Amino acid sequence: MKTCLAYKTMRKHHHIRPILALLAILACLGALAGLYAWRRFGRGLIPPPLPFIPTALPYALWPTPPAADGFDYPLLPAESYGPYVQGITGPLAVDTRYGAQNPAQGDRANCFRDAGGDSVPFSQLYHAGIDLFALDGAGQLAWGEAAHAPVHAVADGVVVATLNAGSEGHIVIIEHLLADASNGYSVYWHVDHVQVQPGQPVTRGQIVAVVKDMGLNSHLHWETRAFRDGSDLFPAGTAGAERCNGHEAGVGYTWDDDPARAHPDFYGYLDPIAFVEARRP
Ligand SMILES: [Zn+2]
Repeated sequence: MKTCLAYKTMRKHHHIRPILALLAILACLGALAGLYAWRRFGRGLIPPPLPFIPTALPYALWPTPPAADGFDYPLLPAESYGPYVQGITGPLAVDTRYGAQNPAQGDRANCFRDAGGDSVPFSQLYHAGIDLFALDGAGQLAWGEAAHAPVHAVADGVVVATLNAGSEGHIVIIEHLLADASNGYSVYWHVDHVQVQPGQPVTRGQIVAVVKDMGLNSHLHWETRAFRDGSDLFPAGTAGAERCNGHEAGVGYTWDDDPARAHPDFYGYLDPIAFVEARRP
């Protein structure tokens, strides 16, 4: 009976039929798009289970670490992870100002202020490390698949800080004694399930955390640098000396109103890949 009424209505309103046909076509297209999105990205939406993480041995706080005898990559195998920059995969240097990768996108405002008090857009910041995403067998980006990947200490050292950056995940900072008796630091950001505490010695390859599940954006931000805390790197009162990300000066992005001071050579950021390649065990 209802069907008949609908038929009568349709006969009465002939112009409805093309609209219904259009709706049916749209529904089909939507279903196809959904299927494509699921096949393309779906796996990235379901994080892999947490890896098995061995329990750390008993330790003494803040020991003098032995000189690190070699550096390795934080995500293994290294060829399964790589930087992602605005639609381009592969280890590319795209920040023409510093010869460094800069994934900062667009003019989104942030907490850095220039000398005139205006906010500095993200695209103008120096990105102080590389973002490692999972790659598939063909070297293409595998969105979201880095979630829960074990994050390894790149060398022997001592954990000097663990910080909670809220929705951005946790930050782990490890101090390394280098062969020339200077200190180097490795920084791991956007991690979760942190397995270490400040003062704890770690060995190369030890799992210190896992990559935080941030959906398709799951990645490890990895830095190597010559300083522990960036707060005193810039002259007081300049833009670079201000704490910007609210947790740790110098972590993630840096900027200064004097371009010469903002150059990584000035404030001790090191190219993580070049640093490791020069010190492979
Ligand atoms: Zn980053």
